[in-house]
Amino acid sequence: MKSKDFTRRDFLKLSGASIAAGMLGVHAPRVLADSGQAGSFQVFRHGRRDQAKVALSYDDCHLVKKLQELEEILRDYPDARVTFFPTGEALLKTNDKDAGIWQRFIEQGHEIGSHTFDHVNPGIRSTPNLLADYAKWLAALHQVTESRPQVRFARPPFGNLSPSYQEMCVEYGLVATMWSASWGGELALAQKNIEAVEYGDVVLFHVGWGDVDANTPFALSLLEERGIRAVTMSELYFASVHEEIGVGSCGTLAFGGGQRCPE
Ligand SMILES: [Zn+2]
Repeated sequence: MKSKDFTRRDFLKLSGASIAAGMLGVHAPRVLADSGQAGSFQVFRHGRRDQAKVALSYDDCHLVKKLQELEEILRDYPDARVTFFPTGEALLKTNDKDAGIWQRFIEQGHEIGSHTFDHVNPGIRSTPNLLADYAKWLAALHQVTESRPQVRFARPPFGNLSPSYQEMCVEYGLVATMWSASWGGELALAQKNIEAVEYGDVVLFHVGWGDVDANTPFALSLLEERGIRAVTMSELYFASVHEEIGVGSCGTLAFGGGQRCPE
């Protein structure tokens, strides 16, 4: 996969050999540790606004039938990539019903991020609780994927970036991933949002009825019509990091929290 190789190569180039060592373990290194951001909390909300790319993301993922339908829909758009944010419970449950479904998504070039094991609101969880939760989520991912894909992104349930959730992200080197556009719900209402797509959008969907059956085909067809590529979260994110390093300014990057400009 061309784009996958590209991001992996650039990831190593950007972050140094320490990243490679950390790829093997639960304790992933801090992203961009060599760029002066060690230990800082990072939020990714959208990518560059000057490149015709968006990242479609799907939360929760409890419904195996809808996942299978999405897999079929994506077959019609072989260049499109999406990112899933399943809970650990959903990973295990759906894999029980369709063994290998997550490994297939990985092999098709899609990406998986964390959405906690059990979808409990991070606002009522301690840091140690969330650290244990992520380890449990990752164990579930490893159980359902032979290839143990790299995990870079984490989306908090209910979009709640609580202090404990932020600490969990820093500890595991995860980029907290929010969204800049929401294309879920009834198509009649979502259509307006989809048509208002902006380059660099991180798009929120859920694996549910309307989002998969109606909104996704509408969105993929509209993106194709407008020449906008649906890419993985990693591709959108690393294009932003490149822009940041190239320009030497924090002004255009969609990071929040305690982010500092790279030297
Ligand atoms: Zn959720």
